[in-house]
Amino acid sequence: MHRFFLPPGTLSSGAQVALDAYAHQLHSVLRLQAGAPLVLLDGSGLEYAATLTDVSAKRAGALVGAARPCPTEPRLQITLYICSLKGEKFAWVLQKCTELGVVRFVPVVSRRSIVRPAAALDAKADRWHAVIREAAEQSHRAVLPALSPALDFDEAIAHAQGLRLLPWEGAASESGVARTPQLTAVEALSLLVGPEGGLADVEAAAAQAAGWQIVALGPRILRAETAAIAGVAALLALAGDMGM
Ligand code: SAM
Repeated sequence: MHRFFLPPGTLSSGAQVALDAYAHQLHSVLRLQAGAPLVLLDGSGLEYAATLTDVSAKRAGALVGAARPCPTEPRLQITLYICSLKGEKFAWVLQKCTELGVVRFVPVVSRRSIVRPAAALDAKADRWHAVIREAAEQSHRAVLPALSPALDFDEAIAHAQGLRLLPWEGAASESGVARTPQLTAVEALSLLVGPEGGLADVEAAAAQAAGWQIVALGPRILRAETAAIAGVAALLALAGDMGM
């Protein structure tokens, strides 16, 4: 059944809601007609059964029905600080890590980031919000992951709080690298993944000085987009979220 996110606080059982923002998709892409069942969400953690009451190319509305829990959110709240990536790779990371369960994305411009400055990343926010929303609807997320304004690296490492993990490809061979701490009791953490060209040594050192723990993702060199997805999946598995 088709799922759609609405702004926070929009939904209550018995309410009639406007779906004009989705009219084209409902009418011309999905070709749904009045009476079609839908699932609506507004980030409350609940999902609502709904019935399409009217639909045209520009207007649509639905009657909101019963609410029910949507138990798909991970207990471990991961904020992914992701250095800018070329082409469609960044959008691909947003899509995959939304499916996996990341709750917040923070674009980062590091020394070796090819896509820069931060304003160039923020200019892509509308497109990236759409990628996140579509992935959240497809993966039956209960809430929409947030997309923060882009930060420069030094701002990013100061911005994060709590448990902060920095995967570094040299870590696997280095002694003294923190093994990922026990996560079953951790509620939230930040993960920062470098760009295609990696992080400069001075950046890794600054992050460590700011309290970030260097961690390994195995002895193989992963592409940045692979490292983001593998890192998020590994952390959720270690936290028991994957049911493995
Ligand atoms: N220095 C790499 C190279 O030689 O190709 C480039 C960096 S890698 C493509 C991009 C990012 O992925 C790194 O900054 C790091 O955050 C992460 N990464 C890749 N492989 C990793 C590994 N085995 N362990 C930890 N992090 C890794």
